[in-house]
Amino acid sequence: MNKDNIFDSISTLKGVGSQLSKYLKKRKIEKIKDIILNLPYSETDRSKIVRLSELEVGAICSIKVKVKKLNFPRIRNLPNKIICEDETGKIDIVYFNSREGYLRKLFPLNEWVIISGKINFFNKKYQITNPDYVTTIENQDYVVKNIPKYNLTKGINEKKYRSISEKIISNIPIINDWLDNHFIEKNKLLNWNQAIKNLHLNEKKDNKSKSYRRIVFDEICANFLSLSENRKRIRKSKKAKIFNNKKVEYLIKKLPFKLTNSQNVVLKEIDKDLLSHKRMFRIIQGDVGSGKTIVSLLSIYNVVQSGYQTALMSPTEILAKQHFELSKKIFGNLLKIRFLTGKTEYKERKKILKELREGKIDLIIGTHSLFQKTIKFRNLGLTVIDEQHKFGVKQRSDLAKKGGDNCDVLLMSATPIPRTMMMSLYGDMDISKINEKPAERKSIQTLSKPEKKINELWPSIKRQIDYGNQVFWVCPLIEESSFLDYSSAKKKYEIINKKFPNKVGLIHGALDKEEKDKILNKFLNKEIFILVSTTVIEVGIDFPNANLIIIENANKFGLAQLHQLRGRVGRGQKQGVCILLFKEGLSKSAIKRIKILKNSDDGFFIAEEDLKLRGFGDLIGYQQSGIKNFRFADPLHHEDLFQLAEKYILGIRDDINEKKYSFLLKLFDKAEIINIEEF
Ligand code: ADP
Ligand code: MG
Repeated sequence: MNKDNIFDSISTLKGVGSQLSKYLKKRKIEKIKDIILNLPYSETDRSKIVRLSELEVGAICSIKVKVKKLNFPRIRNLPNKIICEDETGKIDIVYFNSREGYLRKLFPLNEWVIISGKINFFNKKYQITNPDYVTTIENQDYVVKNIPKYNLTKGINEKKYRSISEKIISNIPIINDWLDNHFIEKNKLLNWNQAIKNLHLNEKKDNKSKSYRRIVFDEICANFLSLSENRKRIRKSKKAKIFNNKKVEYLIKKLPFKLTNSQNVVLKEIDKDLLSHKRMFRIIQGDVGSGKTIVSLLSIYNVVQSGYQTALMSPTEILAKQHFELSKKIFGNLLKIRFLTGKTEYKERKKILKELREGKIDLIIGTHSLFQKTIKFRNLGLTVIDEQHKFGVKQRSDLAKKGGDNCDVLLMSATPIPRTMMMSLYGDMDISKINEKPAERKSIQTLSKPEKKINELWPSIKRQIDYGNQVFWVCPLIEESSFLDYSSAKKKYEIINKKFPNKVGLIHGALDKEEKDKILNKFLNKEIFILVSTTVIEVGIDFPNANLIIIENANKFGLAQLHQLRGRVGRGQKQGVCILLFKEGLSKSAIKRIKILKNSDDGFFIAEEDLKLRGFGDLIGYQQSGIKNFRFADPLHHEDLFQLAEKYILGIRDDINEKKYSFLLKLFDKAEIINIEEF
């Protein structure tokens, strides 16, 4: 085998027919390298030969016996039987559906053989049914040892698979390692060839195993590298923007509040990118309410100063509308701003498209309809994408392409992501963090209550409504069933509506976007005062008048999600309150989680704690992330390797030698797709 054969299809292997290929494909084993990466999950100890008098029923073991008699009944459905013995006892070897000729060859009369399999006891006799291995004494080394066990689908014979796998593993050519020895030793890793060999010999897969650490490190690096490759494609040369900060400073002075330090720092980071000769691809990460929008608007102003057009895109119409209103307030007549969504009337839309082409519009705000083919800009200089996690990575790279060579890209996200996972999710971007909230913002008071005391809530809700305040009521997330969620929300809606007639609205997943927007608008316009909803209320929308949120079945939500939900309230002047309703008998971990939520208002801290308590599988954003594609790496257990890989990749990222890493990228299927479908 030479190096490149590793990437050949398994069907090129001798003895792998179309049937076996089909089964292997089910286990995602398509290329030879997939067999190399299919590590054994445990082992079977066949290393000792056990005497028949010492057999243990149910155990898997190896025996050395003499073939005494072959019994092939002529009656259908009766099994074939081979009677064997050693000095201490007798055993029956039983075969269903095996041909006589085959068995006669396998069990030569009066010869000694090695048999390995699971011991049963039947009719007062020991027996092995369909043994895993039968071999001659000369070949006993192939069986009598610790045998790796692979996760296989039905239809794949373990023995057959093992012989294929062993042949491949022992024939892997020595590759040119992309890591140098010094690095490998310093970080307690191992060279690639050795690591693979050890792992197939059942080295334990924990963080102490240098071999396993090596494979995990490789996988993380392959991931980061593919993101870096995407980054390289996006960060091409562009014309630098030219603007004078005086004008934006004037605008900042006129704001009704003072920018936080974090906001100022991030603004400077963006400025630097805008003024550089490389396209910007930057994400602002900031907790709910940290004030990302204003930062993006100020950057938009700078870009318009440089003579370019700008676009601001939101995942929902209602959020886009809020941005539109805010922009008009901040910019007044300074910029020509237009609003465009799928619902914009034909005539108006035509006019807007014309003005965009002619460069008459400075800032266009809308939903993803901004990026339809028919929409052409004269000179788009900046695209801002709000709540980027709603768009997915493929979309974000498509959007980046769309803007043209001189278009910078700025993304925003309120989903706090644990430090370890930042690079896996955002490795193709530069990251700006807003890590403080406006000073006068009151933190939200968080309380918990058992569900059976629900009646105690009505008076306080009534009080809120009497004051003209508004309330969110988030309904139990029963399970992943929109129907059940809907019916429970509907029931709750009816109960609450009886208590507060004509003051309640219901929003749930089965409604289409338009109906949702209609109800959200009613809530924004204070036509209704209580909004009952299933799961998540649209992210990002500012409801300055809502100051109480009640979350039922709160232990069904992740910490980070609860934190985002409660961030819906307390955005205005009034104290926000969040009440978590629980069923009886909370577990220790549930109590711990409430405590964290009560004591912290820091989304990043909460995301870290969430990761520790629930594992990375439950984090928000996880579904869309590339994390689930990791087969070996786990941000929780391999934190140090994530950090190491990050340092390593950041060190080379803008100057990657693709040739050196092409083997690695191919190994983890990152070469062809680089960052398109996978993430
Ligand atoms: P998010 O980061 O969640 O998108 P927004 O940009 O919507 O947050 O800002 C939330 C609210 O905070 C808005 O009403 C905004 O006007 C206000 N805000 C932004 N920056 C500041 C600041 N430095 N001081 C006070 N209020 C601010
Ligand atoms: Mg926002």
